[in-house]
Amino acid sequence: MEAASSSKCGGPAVGIDLGTTYSCVAVWRHDRGEVIANDQGSRLTPSCVAFAGAERFVGDAAVNQAALNPCNTIFEMKRLIGRRFSDESVQEDMKLWPFKVIQGLEDRPTIVVRHDGVERQFVPEEISAMVLAKMRETAEVYLGKKVKNAVVTVPVYFSNSQRQATIDAGAIAGLNVMRIINEPTAAALAYGLEKVPVTNRGRTVLVFDLGGGTFDVSLLDANMGRFVVKATAGDTHLGGADFDNELVKHSLREFIRKHGLSDIKSNQKALRRLRTACERAKRMLSSMAETTIEVDSLHQGIDFRVTITRSRFEELNKHLFARCMGATESCLRDAGVDKNSVHDVVLVGGSTRIPKVRGMLGEFFGGKELCRSINPDEAVAYGAAIHASVLSGGSDDDRRRVDMILREFTPLSLGVEIRRDPSPTMSVVIPKNTAIPTKKVKNYCTRYDNQTGVLFAVYEGESASTKDNHLLGQFELSGIRPAPRGAARLEATFEIDANGVLNVSAENTDTGGKNSITITNHSGRLNKVEIERMALEAQNHRRKMKLIK
Ligand code: ADP
Ligand code: MG
Repeated sequence: MEAASSSKCGGPAVGIDLGTTYSCVAVWRHDRGEVIANDQGSRLTPSCVAFAGAERFVGDAAVNQAALNPCNTIFEMKRLIGRRFSDESVQEDMKLWPFKVIQGLEDRPTIVVRHDGVERQFVPEEISAMVLAKMRETAEVYLGKKVKNAVVTVPVYFSNSQRQATIDAGAIAGLNVMRIINEPTAAALAYGLEKVPVTNRGRTVLVFDLGGGTFDVSLLDANMGRFVVKATAGDTHLGGADFDNELVKHSLREFIRKHGLSDIKSNQKALRRLRTACERAKRMLSSMAETTIEVDSLHQGIDFRVTITRSRFEELNKHLFARCMGATESCLRDAGVDKNSVHDVVLVGGSTRIPKVRGMLGEFFGGKELCRSINPDEAVAYGAAIHASVLSGGSDDDRRRVDMILREFTPLSLGVEIRRDPSPTMSVVIPKNTAIPTKKVKNYCTRYDNQTGVLFAVYEGESASTKDNHLLGQFELSGIRPAPRGAARLEATFEIDANGVLNVSAENTDTGGKNSITITNHSGRLNKVEIERMALEAQNHRRKMKLIK
């Protein structure tokens, strides 16, 4: 079940921003982008799924019952999708989650919940599929039509297997993922920046994305209608939740100062209620100079109420805001771009609504006007909707033209490991910043006399030594005819499709026979049968729900 390149099945095509904390769906109609509100009237849907008794909730309903049912309320699947259980980042993130994650088949992270009285296990793709299905249904209600096709966005740094897993999540949700595109590219597209020419030179666009739990800054070069990612920086654990945290800590200090009851710190329910009040206060402070954090009967029957000013909030988060600016500087430095040559600064992510963040960014860029006419938490979905509409409408020629315009580039170099003393070396096949789709072939030979098999280990990364790069997968090419070393000719073919999905194959060219192997599946990726089974289960669940309703 691979992503199709266009929407042959017809019907409307939507753009979906599948976020770590919130997801958003948009459609391009009547020459404009429309962000679609869900059944709660909200244009953002929490990327959260909960299992409660026999019920399953997605979005706001899941968040609303989270405090009562923390072990069966699943969120932040974007931190898990397409990763292995043993990944360092997975091991670290797990420590922060109230729900249970175990090592499943092929080192897949597997979520364990209690549902309807029994223990059930899900892979991250299935949970993300529940969120995607909710976005699809939201669009279907609004458009009054079935929606099959979507463009889904991912962070620039998402690896091949994270992209594939996102496509698989779409398939489970009954969606044909026409294309996976990078979030900052989608945001730049929402502003139509590829159409604004700069004489002779490329247009340098900085996308500043501060969301709920992650911060990404990307520098794009829009040249002759194409976007190239020049550099990225950021922090996978910096965002709105950290600002909420500072307010929680501040409130706790106030509470303990007034009432002395420091055991509130171990009252989980009080902490959760306080966090909700703090997030609300934070949002208020984006439009007001002062607000109150208020929780009735917070701890031991005591009502809590404290006023907080915007300047106090800014003071509390100063160190976090400074980290954002630090990453912005390092992104520019990596790209070798002076901040004065940045043409556009695009605001993305709910946390860029914070006036101080905007202020610091504006000041950093010498008082420059920031692109913010589109809601920052909707810009990515909006751009994805533009892309989806072009892919689904228009002629083949139109599509080809837009594909040229929207061509993406490989963020990292890809290659194979060659044994070279003293240490294993990276032999680059597709250099970084190559436009995709692409196909590159490189020739190799045997290292020893009478060698009959060669291991092809595929890496991504910029280091000359594979030790510092990231292993994507490996396979053996066997059946090589015994010959002196260097005699057997081996051809490695690297092919990346429009979604950024990589296929690698190797062939022994002198045997004439097709002695090639293709890595289509990274270890841990769901296979076709599994996806079909999960899609069927998801469909049955939806049918059951309809009957109940
Ligand atoms: P994601 O990280 O999933 O991409 P968003 O870009 O929607 O999510 O960002 C969500 C974050 O934005 C949350 O932490 C939320 O509290 C924060 N946020 C939303 N609106 C505001 C606001 N008006 N002021 C400050 N923060 C906000
Ligand atoms: Mg986002």
